[in-house]
Amino acid sequence: MTAQTMSSNWSATVLTLFPEMFPGPLGISLLGKALEKNLWSLDVHDVRDHGLGKHRTVDDTPAGGGPGMVMRADVAAAAIDAVDRKNRPLIYLSPRGVPLTQSRVRALAAGPGAVLLCGRFEGIDQRVIEARQIEEVSLGDFVLAGGEIAAMALIEASVRLIPGVLGDHASTAEESFATGLLEYPHYTRPQMFEDRPIPDVLTGGNHSEISRFRQQQAQALTKERRPDLWTLYEKNKR
Ligand code: SAH
Repeated sequence: MTAQTMSSNWSATVLTLFPEMFPGPLGISLLGKALEKNLWSLDVHDVRDHGLGKHRTVDDTPAGGGPGMVMRADVAAAAIDAVDRKNRPLIYLSPRGVPLTQSRVRALAAGPGAVLLCGRFEGIDQRVIEARQIEEVSLGDFVLAGGEIAAMALIEASVRLIPGVLGDHASTAEESFATGLLEYPHYTRPQMFEDRPIPDVLTGGNHSEISRFRQQQAQALTKERRPDLWTLYEKNKR
């Protein structure tokens, strides 16, 4: 089997209280076209289908007191157990999770897909996280109102790496993080913008000079903006 046919089975299952948010931005542009072409698939399940009683209750007040509501462990477990995992990682989008990185995204894109649980309110009961051995992944050190946008970000970042999804597949090889550096800056017409010309080297046609220039720019940007990445890059070079 080729990589292409393998990854065309990539599938995301999302468990959410707001299924109407999907596909949303994932149905637009190149990802949306790839969805239509079955290069990847998305199914979205309403956690409320597993809610309790006449009102399909999914949450309750936090044990020990405090503000807000917590998603019940039994309801979340029922929603999870109703999904055919098909060897896919089970991920709860959570600000307490391991921050998502491009290398994790690459690993996810190379795998069969992901099952993504989106929290709301104060989050979900800790016991279901432990009982179902759910991995927690964060979008970054800030707090969203729900896991849906984080799930979309994870899906979008993964799906764009599936062969055939982006028009020019080569464009993911040199982009930010792929090389351990931030990407070099881009320029296009016009040649002069408000007294700022395109750097001469880029219009000179000398390809080795161009790649040297871009490499210098990428290094300078990374050093200045992301000393954490720069340190790693220098270490890995040795
Ligand atoms: N009380 C929680 C925040 C709950 S926010 C805390 O302080 O840790 C509600 C939901 O939004 C969470 O259950 C989670 O699914 C989602 N969420 C919020 N911030 C997120 C982030 N940085 N990354 C991923 N998901 C996030």
